[in-house]
Amino acid sequence: MAEKYDVIVVGAGPAGSLASLILARGGKRVLLVDKASFPRHKVCGDCLNPRVWDLWKSYDLIDSFKALPQQRIEGVRIEHDQETLLRRNFESLKQPFISVDREIFDTWLVQEAIKSGVDFLHETRVQTVHFSGKVETSVGDFQADWILGADGRNSVVARNAGLMAPLENCRRVGWQAHLELENLDSDLHLRFFSEGYSGLSLINDKKANLWMVLDSKVSGIPQKIANRYFPNLPALVWHSITPITRKPSALGKETIWLIGDAARVVEPFTGEGIYFALLSAEIAAKSILKVKRVEERAGALLDYQREHELLCHSQIQLGMVLRWLLRSPERAYRWIPWIRYFPGPVSRMINRLIGM
Ligand SMILES: Cc1cc2nc3c(=O)[nH]c(=O)nc-3n(C[C@H](O)[C@H](O)[C@H](O)COP(=O)(O)OP(=O)(O)OC[C@H]3O[C@@H](n4cnc5c(N)ncnc54)[C@H](O)[C@@H]3O)c2cc1C
Repeated sequence: MAEKYDVIVVGAGPAGSLASLILARGGKRVLLVDKASFPRHKVCGDCLNPRVWDLWKSYDLIDSFKALPQQRIEGVRIEHDQETLLRRNFESLKQPFISVDREIFDTWLVQEAIKSGVDFLHETRVQTVHFSGKVETSVGDFQADWILGADGRNSVVARNAGLMAPLENCRRVGWQAHLELENLDSDLHLRFFSEGYSGLSLINDKKANLWMVLDSKVSGIPQKIANRYFPNLPALVWHSITPITRKPSALGKETIWLIGDAARVVEPFTGEGIYFALLSAEIAAKSILKVKRVEERAGALLDYQREHELLCHSQIQLGMVLRWLLRSPERAYRWIPWIRYFPGPVSRMINRLIGM
C-alpha cells in the first residue's frame, strides 16, 4: 500500500520548503519531494528582498540564515548600456538586502524543514497527481490528504490538475551564470541593452551572479553580450529557463493547491520572486493548518485564494507598468533613459519593492 502522509509537497524550492516546515511544525506529517539531486543549481539572481527577514523572524530562522555565506547589497543601479541612470543607496535599510547562492539557500531551507520533522526525498520526480491524493513518482506511489504543487513555473502538478492557464506566447528566455569579476562593487546592477536586460551582483567575496532576460531571437548569445561589457571574460557556464511570463494559474481545486512560481510567476527585474513564493507558501500552509474537519477544506481554499489575491494586489499595480515596459526589449531600451527625469517616482517604486 502507498505510504500515507497528511500533505505531500512537490518541489523543494523556497515555496515548497517553507510550506513543509510550517505544516510539520503545525503537527502535520509531511513528505517533500524534488526531482533534482540536492544541492542543486537554480537559475536566479540570488537576491533576497529585505522583507524576508520578517519571515526568518517568524520561524526562528534568523541565526541559521545569518550563518550562510552571503553578500550585503549596498545599492541598486539602473543602467542603460554603459551609462548609470540612477543609483539608490541601501545602506540605511533596517533589514539588509542580501544575496545568497541559491544552491546554498535552497539546501539550507530544506535542512530546516527536515529539522522540523519533514520527510525529504530528492531525485524523486512526480509524474502524476490525482484529486484522490495519490501521487505517482519515479520511486513509487504515495498518498496524502493534500498535495501542494511548489514545482515552479513549468509545474507538472498545475498541468495534471488542469489548473494551469494556457501558455502565452513568451519570447523571452532567462539566462544565468556565476563568475569571478575583479573590482565589482557591492551594488546590484540592473542593465538595459537592446536585446533585453541583465542583473549583476556579488554573492560572496569572490563570486558574482550575472543573469539576463533576452528575446529568444537572440537567446543563443548571452556570452557575447557579457563580453561587450566585460572584456577578457572567460567562457561561462550558462543555464537557461523559460517561460519568463505566464498567466497566473488557478490556485487550487479540492485537494490540490499551488504555491510559489507554480501559482504565479513574477518578473525577474523586481527581485521579488523568492519573497513572493515564500509568502504564498506561508498563507497556504496556515490555511491548511486551520482545517479540522474534511468539510472545512473548501472554505480553507477560499481563504487561501482571498489572501493570495491581497498579496498580489500591490504587486500587480506595480507590475502592470513594468510588465508593459519589460516585455518588449526594444520598448524598454527606448524608454528606460527617461527615468533619469523621474528620480522621485522611481525611488518610490524601489521603496515599495523592498518594503521601505
Ligand atoms: C533570470 C531570473 C532571475 C531571477 N532572480 C531573482 C532574484 O534575484 N530574486 C528573487 O527573489 N527572485 C528571482 N527570480 C525568481 C525566482 O527564481 C523564483 O520566483 C523562485 O525560485 C520561485 O520559487 P519556487 O519555490 O516557487 O520554485 P522553484 O525555486 O522553481 O523550485 C521548484 C522546485 O520544483 C522541482 N520540481 C519541478 N518539477 C518537479 C517534479 N515533476 N517533481 C519533483 N520536483 C519537481 C524543481 O527541481 C525545483 O527544485 C528570478 C527568476 C529568473 C528567471
